[in-house]
Amino acid sequence: MGTIPINITDFFNNRNNERAKSSFIISGPCSAETEEQVLQTAQQLAATGKVNLFRAGVWKPRTRPGMFEGIGSAALPWLLQAKKNTGLPITVEVATAKQVEEALKFEVDVLWIGARTTVNPFSVQELADVLKGVGIPVLIKNPINPDIDLWQGAVERIEKAGVKEIGLIHRGFSSYGNTTYRNAPMWHLAIEMKSRNADKIFICDPSHIGGKRELLLEISQKSIDLGYDGLMIESHIAPDIAWSDAAQQITPEALNSLLSKLIWRKSNLNIEEQNELQKLRLQIDQLDDELLQILSKRMKIADAIGLYKKQNNITILQAARWNEILDRAFKKNSTLDLSVEFIKKYFEAVHLESIHHQNKVMNE
Ligand code: PEP
Ligand code: MN
Repeated sequence: MGTIPINITDFFNNRNNERAKSSFIISGPCSAETEEQVLQTAQQLAATGKVNLFRAGVWKPRTRPGMFEGIGSAALPWLLQAKKNTGLPITVEVATAKQVEEALKFEVDVLWIGARTTVNPFSVQELADVLKGVGIPVLIKNPINPDIDLWQGAVERIEKAGVKEIGLIHRGFSSYGNTTYRNAPMWHLAIEMKSRNADKIFICDPSHIGGKRELLLEISQKSIDLGYDGLMIESHIAPDIAWSDAAQQITPEALNSLLSKLIWRKSNLNIEEQNELQKLRLQIDQLDDELLQILSKRMKIADAIGLYKKQNNITILQAARWNEILDRAFKKNSTLDLSVEFIKKYFEAVHLESIHHQNKVMNE
């Protein structure tokens, strides 16, 4: 971790700079509650030397009315004071044009769009319209539902407004019957979004994915292993009595210790590393070629079986045979070290392709 703070614009512009890449940390309380809480949290976070951007929710979109909905604009002077005291740039969540105007009056450096706003194209467009001509970086959280086109749509609206510095925050997706996580990470969706937006910084929010502090380390490390550029982690001087999201917040001291446990990975390789990986990848390519040849051979046999069934008026599907194939595979697997899910998925795909082949032969 470098000496901080990295200038936010530098970070956006030099995202391949190794130092910037491995150390973009956003932290601060879920909500600004009191002036003292904001100033102390910011002070302690700045003292870790590891935080690049101070966050605090001022307007809180809550599931039900009557829950703490944020202090509102009255908290903005506290954030500005925190910025003056520590030198840390500040970020708040905005959901309406009016909130953007208020935030700008108080010298907020970065805006973020929350999950409940990304989900609504009307709201995102309202933000895009007010952001025209305003050169402020914007971070866009994934929508609460697992729909990356909606996420991409929000990026496009903000981009069309002329915003150059856009980052994406993966905070997980609402899902039914999920017990481990507050919001299911669905890493495959985030990774797809990340590769569609390779030019943008990609940040993980393990606080809202996990919903409890015990999960922060594991989720953070996983995101780093996947090549994310940074983390947004909620931190509060007294997490247990926080007015929102108490279970997932940690003290600045705990944040410091968590960050020192993380192993940052690099994505820029030197020549020697490239060669070493290339050797292994060539072996994989060779095996993939062989596998495709073998699969094609297998399907030719399926064609022959299809022809035989046709000539003898036998149905394509033979349930007993399908179970036999799976049983054989599971037995063989005792020495192969493949996962049961993989074997099932593999044979389902192969079986389906076989049925297509036989169907074709039967109906020719
Ligand atoms: C937050 O960051 O405190 C927040 C409300 O997040 P999200 O939009 O991801 O729910
Ligand atoms: Mn929160």
